Order: sequence, then structure tokens, then C-alpha cells
Amino acid sequence: MENENCVWRHCPSCGLWYPLPTHYEDARREDHKTFYCPNGHSCYYPQQTDRELLHSQNAALLSENAELQKEIRMLPKRGLDGRFAKRNVKEE
Ligand SMILES: [Zn+2]
Repeated sequence: MENENCVWRHCPSCGLWYPLPTHYEDARREDHKTFYCPNGHSCYYPQQTDRELLHSQNAALLSENAELQKEIRMLPKRGLDGRFAKRNVKEE
């Protein structure tokens, strides 16, 4: 039988230390589903994973970018064109 990698985890309800297979723990961190200590206490990982954190940061940046694009489209175009035209005239 092949040895499976395990991590030791502590149940916050009864204080029991017990081994969890690494792949099982990784999956519970990702899906936040409930699992049980050997004494039957329910446990789960509520913290965001790095991937989830990056996903929400990316969504926030995309939203901010969309807002900035909207502001750029609302800038008065004549004012900008005039300023650039004036600058071009001076350089010639
Ligand atoms: Zn327990």
C-alpha cells in the first residue's frame, strides 16, 4: 500500500489532533465544504484561497477599469482637441 501524504489538523471543538490526507484538505480549502473530526464535530475552511483572493482582486480591478473608461469617454473632447492643436501649432 502506498503511503499517502497527510497533515495533522486540530479540531477546535474537542481538541483532538488527527491526520487529514493532503489532497482531501486541499479540496476542502477550495470548496469550503464541511468535513468532520473523528469525534464527529463539523469543521470547514472559511478563508479565501489565494486563487479566490486573486479572482476577487481581478474583478475589482476590471470594475475600476470600466469606471475609468467611462470617465474618459465623458471628458470634453473639444477641450482636449483644442489643447493638442494649440501645442502642435507652437511646435511647428
Ligand atoms: Zn472534534
